Amino acid sequence: MVQLFVGWPNFWRLMRPIVAVKIQFEVEIVSEEEFEAIDAAIQEAAMQEVEATSRKTRPGLLTPLDKFRGGLGYLSVSDLTAQFWCEQQMEYNFLAPEPKPETVQMQLGKDIHMARELELYDVVDIKIESKEDKWATRFLNCLNKMAFLDAQQTIRELPVFGEPFQLGVFVYGIIDELHFNEMGQLEISELKTRATNNSLPSKAQQNKNFLQAMLYSIMFNDLLEGKLATTTLLSKFNLNGLAALSEDVVKFANELRIPCAKLIQIADLMLSRFKTSNIPKISSVVVEYCSQFSHEEIHKTCLQLDESWAHSKLVTMLPYWKGERETIGVEIEEAWKCHRCEFADICTWRIKKDEECRKLK
Ligand code: SF4
Repeated sequence: MVQLFVGWPNFWRLMRPIVAVKIQFEVEIVSEEEFEAIDAAIQEAAMQEVEATSRKTRPGLLTPLDKFRGGLGYLSVSDLTAQFWCEQQMEYNFLAPEPKPETVQMQLGKDIHMARELELYDVVDIKIESKEDKWATRFLNCLNKMAFLDAQQTIRELPVFGEPFQLGVFVYGIIDELHFNEMGQLEISELKTRATNNSLPSKAQQNKNFLQAMLYSIMFNDLLEGKLATTTLLSKFNLNGLAALSEDVVKFANELRIPCAKLIQIADLMLSRFKTSNIPKISSVVVEYCSQFSHEEIHKTCLQLDESWAHSKLVTMLPYWKGERETIGVEIEEAWKCHRCEFADICTWRIKKDEECRKLK
């Protein structure tokens, strides 16, 4: 059984008075110039590492995409953001015998996301009998939310998929929120909850959050441009487009006035809905930080979509997944991440870097 959120406008919410709350926040103090210099140095070092550790993919050798994604053939956006933080740490997490248990903070974050979704949607229970049913409900959900976007309404939890910059790796993710800003631009908003009332994360963490929102935006814009074919979508998720859908899913499709009995029809309809819609591309990216205690907004950071920045990051990151290079850890400029890392004592990358530093002294 899955629960799907089906929306209709909450007009009463528009009548609610808006109370402005001014909150002091603290940030880790690094100037923009300093940060850009550090970022450029890290990028440069990462590219050098990529070149130094490049290797040809050998036929028959399992790639990290095969090994860690259990033959799924695609990545989630959170895989990429974990890699962006520290690829070596992400790999150690994949290799750990048990997945990390959910913390109280993670649960609180989920609850806040759920509460936001429930502000716009009602829950519908749908009986799922196959993976085709599961994806059919996701695609129907997408179709339903596209209709709200067409009417210039805010939507939350929109699934997106695609191959950003056609770099050979398929990616799936769920957008927190899309809305139209005061200039009429379509804006993506990524919600991050914090176990504090007034502090922002480090600049590195903020960049990771921006990368996440930018990847969603790039995939959404690609869908509007019709860059994804139905056959690719189905094959990447290993789905049988001709499989019959469960009675519940077909009933749900009928309720949405989408009378389709086969997954391929729903997938086709969804992709052509993206392609033929008049919805503008996402141009503005917002990351909102909200307190897990007060549920109040701590701060909002806004940027224009920067495709070349996101492209430069993926060009460095994706060869790892395709088995074209060895694993890379953090560069010396970001060694502070190692102090908080649970793998610091066993990390071969950190030990190697320590030795290199000692030799230089
Ligand atoms: S110790 Fe440092 S380099 Fe190693 S996994 Fe942790 S953060 Fe990455």
